[in-house]
Amino acid sequence: MFLTARCNLKCTYCGGSIEESIMPPEITYRLDELVEFISQDSSPSIAFYGGEPLLRADLMMKIMDSVEAEHFILQTNGLLLHKVDVNYLRKFSTILVSIDGRQEVTDHYRGGVYDRVIRNVRWVRKVGYEGELIARMVATEKTDIYSDVLHLLSIPQFSHVHWQIDAVWSPDSLWRDFTAWVKKYNSGISRLASYFISRLKEGEVLGIVPFLGVLKAILFQENMKPPCGSGIDSFAITTDGRIVACPVCADMPWNQCGDIATHYRKLMKVYMVEPCLSCEYSFACGGRCLFFNRERLWGDEGFRLVCSTARHLIEEMMELTPEILKLSEQGMVELNEFYYPKFNNTTEIIP
Ligand code: SF4
Ligand code: SF4
Repeated sequence: MFLTARCNLKCTYCGGSIEESIMPPEITYRLDELVEFISQDSSPSIAFYGGEPLLRADLMMKIMDSVEAEHFILQTNGLLLHKVDVNYLRKFSTILVSIDGRQEVTDHYRGGVYDRVIRNVRWVRKVGYEGELIARMVATEKTDIYSDVLHLLSIPQFSHVHWQIDAVWSPDSLWRDFTAWVKKYNSGISRLASYFISRLKEGEVLGIVPFLGVLKAILFQENMKPPCGSGIDSFAITTDGRIVACPVCADMPWNQCGDIATHYRKLMKVYMVEPCLSCEYSFACGGRCLFFNRERLWGDEGFRLVCSTARHLIEEMMELTPEILKLSEQGMVELNEFYYPKFNNTTEIIP
């Protein structure tokens, strides 16, 4: 749910606060309406995002006092984490902190925040938070996926690393040569896959979310379409109480599912469309992302390029699968470790 549309940063690829034409800056519905809506779900997971949700840490803690949830999840830029009461912090199953990898990449796109984010991430662990702590990257032109993921994995406070490619709704001027970057990115993914399997042979499962999520689909034949669950079993509540399938395009007509007065079971569902339905990779890709599947902001060629990154990553994981099965037979790894995520923790799986 959107706790606020305001943000205290203005990152290059995002631009900061959500425009008022899309939703009001602050929540306009009553807390009891929210409590009533959520009570219709017997085991809800509630994710707080925005804008920057911790600008309304007061409201977040009030909501956590008022609703029963199986999981609380927080997506934050990390700058205000130290303002959260420790007793509430410990209630989260997953905290996703935005950081783009190495300091120079993070500071370039996010405006010099790297040191403050790292300080707060250390504090979160120091005060006893034991849940998942996911470093969430935006992969863009300066990203070297191999180096940036390895850098974040080397920070012991993070349990996992996840990323999304800054594609399709990225500001026009941000990319100079997306085609060339995709080539470099795909070869970085191959390198990362080799590193992943080499560590696996030593008995260590690295917390690389896109790898684990795809391996879950391959090994357990379980995936959602889209993997984030948007429009099927995951919905976003806007600050004015509308229910939308996907939080990033709250103004799109196809994205409107109802409002908090609508009974949970009567919400409109939003489904994937072709070409992803009949694609041979959809068993693992799940169409990547509802917005990407339904809009063609970068045209067919842009779709093909982004889609090629999903295919490449899936092929790499398929190639690793026989080795992983062998390692599991030898008792080097537990297959269950690839059952990730164990619940919808808002990671989109396919970058
Ligand atoms: S690989 Fe491409 S076409 Fe296939 S499901 Fe994914 S995004 Fe859709
Ligand atoms: S992956 Fe796509 S559909 Fe899912 S939440 Fe993100 S933008 Fe929305």
